[in-house]
Amino acid sequence: MLNFDQINNKSQHVHSIVMECFEWKRDYCLKCGKCCLNTEMILLDEDIKRIQKLGYKIDFFVRKLHNYNVLKNTRGHCVFFEPKSKKCKIYENRPLGCRLYPIIYDEEKGVSVDPYCPLAHTVTSEELEKASKVISQIIEKLFP
Ligand code: SF4
Ligand code: SF4
Repeated sequence: MLNFDQINNKSQHVHSIVMECFEWKRDYCLKCGKCCLNTEMILLDEDIKRIQKLGYKIDFFVRKLHNYNVLKNTRGHCVFFEPKSKKCKIYENRPLGCRLYPIIYDEEKGVSVDPYCPLAHTVTSEELEKASKVISQIIEKLFP
């Protein structure tokens, strides 16, 4: 799993791109919550550390899927999703993958837009290019 400290040491460039991405918000998300149902969102080490600092135990929100750490679900949705309000309990601290969504990494298609999101068609080529940089460099670190 990606170690953010290692990235910091190895490449300040990757660090700055990732940090820039943390500031990137798609203000026009419908907040429909579809992307929080039955999630298999990958958690980077830095995501885990950040969420732990909020007081959540690893066992509560992390599960292993193949060789990765991913978000845990409860009753068909992410443990941090509130079905009534359709809100994320940790929105300001949500994982990098949740911030990039609906841009995803697909093993067959590579960096692409998930058509499951009702706003998939609104992703601009500029956003895709920006997210591609972040995702490609994370993938490189995950699969050196
Ligand atoms: S599926 Fe798309 S529109 Fe709905 S909450 Fe997720 S990112 Fe927003
Ligand atoms: S962390 Fe938040 S945004 Fe990400 S899947 Fe869970 S509820 Fe949704």
